[in-house]
Amino acid sequence: MRLNVAIVGRPNVGKSTLFNRLVGKKLALVDDRPGVTRDRRESEARLGDMTINIIDTAGLEVAGEDALETRMRLQTEEAVAMSDVILFMIDARAGITPMDEYFANVARKSGKPTILLANKSEGRKADAGFYDSYSLGLGDPVTLSAEHGIGMSELYEQLVKYEEIKLKELGISHEEMQLLAMDDGPEVNVSIEDGESEVPLYDPTKPLRVAIVGRPNAGKSTIINHIIGQERLLTGPEAGITRDSISVNWEWNDRKFKLFDTAGMRKKARVQEKLEKLSVSDALRSIQFAEVVVVTLDVTIPFEKQDLQIADLVGREGRAIVIALNKWDLVDNPQEKLAELREKATRLLPQMRNVPLVPISGLTGKNLDRLLQSVLDIYEIWNMRISTSRLNRWLLNVTKHHPPPGVAGRRIKIRYATQIKARPPTFVVFCSRPDALPESYTRYLLNDLRATFKIPAVPVRMLMRKGE
Ligand code: GDP
Ligand code: GDP
Repeated sequence: MRLNVAIVGRPNVGKSTLFNRLVGKKLALVDDRPGVTRDRRESEARLGDMTINIIDTAGLEVAGEDALETRMRLQTEEAVAMSDVILFMIDARAGITPMDEYFANVARKSGKPTILLANKSEGRKADAGFYDSYSLGLGDPVTLSAEHGIGMSELYEQLVKYEEIKLKELGISHEEMQLLAMDDGPEVNVSIEDGESEVPLYDPTKPLRVAIVGRPNAGKSTIINHIIGQERLLTGPEAGITRDSISVNWEWNDRKFKLFDTAGMRKKARVQEKLEKLSVSDALRSIQFAEVVVVTLDVTIPFEKQDLQIADLVGREGRAIVIALNKWDLVDNPQEKLAELREKATRLLPQMRNVPLVPISGLTGKNLDRLLQSVLDIYEIWNMRISTSRLNRWLLNVTKHHPPPGVAGRRIKIRYATQIKARPPTFVVFCSRPDALPESYTRYLLNDLRATFKIPAVPVRMLMRKGE
């Protein structure tokens, strides 16, 4: 898992300059074609020996116009939501403006760790803006010049600390992370997102990217071999057998699939005794590559801690999930077992509703068709777009049925909802007092939305915003 880092700040402070510096010229050029509307750019970036995922919120220089400003704010908040760490940038020469304060507030409210960057600091020790920036309440500023590459080592020192914290939670060391990052892997991920246009649902001629993840010995390779129909990957009872990292294409029911096999990364890491941990980082890597993730459980030992960790990551990364209950051939009383596992899934993965559980046997090939059909079904849901008019008809209904609470004697007004993106479905709901709206009410809306529009399993994001 790479550290997700968002660069946040008002226009013109130097965010893109830093993004380009971290990502490297070649990539930035591809994305910097004039006239390309981009709200958010995301890319892999290197800083010293560290590979991070960097998110830039720039690209809307023409702020001032209402719609654009709203959009910029939404994009900023979304980038903040996706990030583990925020780089909050100010222009040390210009000092602190109300817009800086606005964005600083977004960063502070998120509760995410924030590194304050006083940019354009080359050539002088400290400008007024440097001292003023203490008033933002974001800690000590790092003296930086994005243009001249000054302050990068301090930035590195700070980021690496957060990377360590994140990886520690996952049981992966910084060194292991670097080994894994060295893999060629999939193409570097630069996304150009247009938050408002109606993007076509998906392109069926493009392969659907699937990852099959799970604990060592869950049966991943056996399943893949069966699906692809050839003994491409070595399998064996001894965990962590050496394999090559490859991606495989195949077709099923006229649909193209692409699978990225990360097993080979174990070879690169060569840390046999740490396999338990490594399989999680393998999984992370594939999850980031994939659109739909098949989490494989060994039904003889289902829902172990590692399984839950992996499933949770899939959700947090915003990917669609299908759970394969593998080795079903070893189950004596399938009906009972399935009921038991359903109950467990609901209890242990409360953040995921109605995840498809598909009993399969990689060994005999039983139900592998059903598994692939589930992958296709969930992929469509992950790509779904609900029109604004349908959404608002729903909103009217649901708020009438159960109105939002009042605050200080005045009812909070819910005004308008719109889907800002798919993959995963992400909605914005505008209301009079988003700050006062209880979490439970947002959850109510979200649950009802899921039920009404039949959105099981895939992660759904709902952002509450202030709107007139
Ligand atoms: P963004 O709108 O925050 O993405 O800002 P840009 O990256 O587009 O930068 C705005 C302007 O500030 C550009 O003219 C940059 O060349 C300039 N700039 C960026 N970083 C520095 C820096 O470290 N020092 C100085 N002097 N100028 C910088
Ligand atoms: P991986 O580490 O997840 O890739 O697991 P493998 O595919 O190497 O499988 C580990 C072991 O489980 C091997 O001995 C497989 O033969 C066995 N296995 C895999 N799938 C099944 C299954 O559906 N049923 C049974 N009984 N054994 C299986």
